[in-house]
Amino acid sequence: MDTMSVNHLPNFRYHPDPVATGNVGPSSSACRVCQQARGYVYLRDALHEGREDFSEQICPWCIADGRAASTLDVEFAFSLDIDEVVPETALEELSRRTPGYASFQGEKWLAHCSDVCRFLGDATMEQVSQASAATIAAWCAANNADETLWSELVSGYVPGADIGFYTFECLHCGLIQFHVDAA
Ligand SMILES: [Zn+2]
Ligand SMILES: [Zn+2]
Repeated sequence: MDTMSVNHLPNFRYHPDPVATGNVGPSSSACRVCQQARGYVYLRDALHEGREDFSEQICPWCIADGRAASTLDVEFAFSLDIDEVVPETALEELSRRTPGYASFQGEKWLAHCSDVCRFLGDATMEQVSQASAATIAAWCAANNADETLWSELVSGYVPGADIGFYTFECLHCGLIQFHVDAA
């Protein structure tokens, strides 16, 4: 059996492919929670007050089943900055059992249809320039901005440079939303 296959990774409802988004990666290190070298580790630090850096020390299985959050008393994906009302269970799954992502100003997770959206990673230039009217309207409403500002941000976007467009998809209606931040 190919234990390095991404198909063996746990299923994260709100972060379906953390390897593709660059937040979980191959590693031969043993996980500090389950003590096993399972082939992958979470590349980011966990969220906690100070203390040590847990980057590259926690396997995705211990994130998925909540063991890492309870054993180390940490959280992962950021849950505080959500405007929409979503159930406590969704927030708990996001903060305690979902790998986070790296961004410039601190990660923000978007919500829609009374649920947290799933994170799909950095947008391509094409995805941003071909954003639907609904996507642009959602961004303008969430940021109290008009389409002129959206167009300015889009025209300055180069993936991997100093503006980030992070892609979120609603699990219920399929709306794509972008969280935009800058270095
Ligand atoms: Zn583990
Ligand atoms: Zn929706």
